[in-house]
Amino acid sequence: MINPQVDKGALFIISAPSGAGKTTLCHYVRERFTDMVYSVSYTTRSPRPGEQQGADYHFISEDEFECGIRNSQWAEWAKVHDNHYGTSAVFLDHVLGQGGNVLLDIDVQGTRQILKRYPQAVTMFIMPPSLDELRIRLLDRAADSPETIAKRLKNAALEMALSHQYRHIIVNDLLDDAVEQLVSIIGRYYISS
Ligand code: ADP
Ligand code: 5GP
Repeated sequence: MINPQVDKGALFIISAPSGAGKTTLCHYVRERFTDMVYSVSYTTRSPRPGEQQGADYHFISEDEFECGIRNSQWAEWAKVHDNHYGTSAVFLDHVLGQGGNVLLDIDVQGTRQILKRYPQAVTMFIMPPSLDELRIRLLDRAADSPETIAKRLKNAALEMALSHQYRHIIVNDLLDDAVEQLVSIIGRYYISS
């Protein structure tokens, strides 16, 4: 359960291999929990078509990111698929201190770091039904090159092997079932205003 001595708010972490359906599921979570605060990560990767500065990510340069590491600006940071990603410590502490609910969409490396700093965080891992189904979803999404898909599938197997580190595992087979499971888990810890 949440430790009120540490923070007044609740911190939720969702991780998933690329293509498992995290974006789709997070969309429904944000519809159901309308005052959930989504932590917008900082990244050195280039924006994809349609992505907006400050809404999807804060897109920054490698120099800015490294400056953030030196200044302890990140609550966690990691290199994922050749790019740097980080979560603002000031932002997180501010929202949690105000009693807000925060959702982090970060990878397994970042989750380990966050748990050291915020051991009460509720960790959830979205699992694809199988690696074959994951490949199909990545191909159907048609957003990545064959080389990128191959790299993401290789990374997926490594990430799935670490899923036992999470408090909750949700298999995203039938979308409606996965949404219900996720909503029910979050509802258990959510701080209502
Ligand atoms: P992620 O954010 O984890 O990379 P997406 O949410 O973009 O994944 O989902 C990857 C693809 O799989 C998308 O085309 C999405 O519409 C589809 N998808 C998501 N969940 C399901 C599901 N339960 N069954 C079938 N297709 C799904
Ligand atoms: P994408 O580039 O596809 O948006 O994200 C790639 C991966 O980076 C995903 O697994 C996503 O969860 C992870 N990610 C996004 N933001 C952060 C962050 O701030 N920290 C960490 N550690 N991972 C992140």
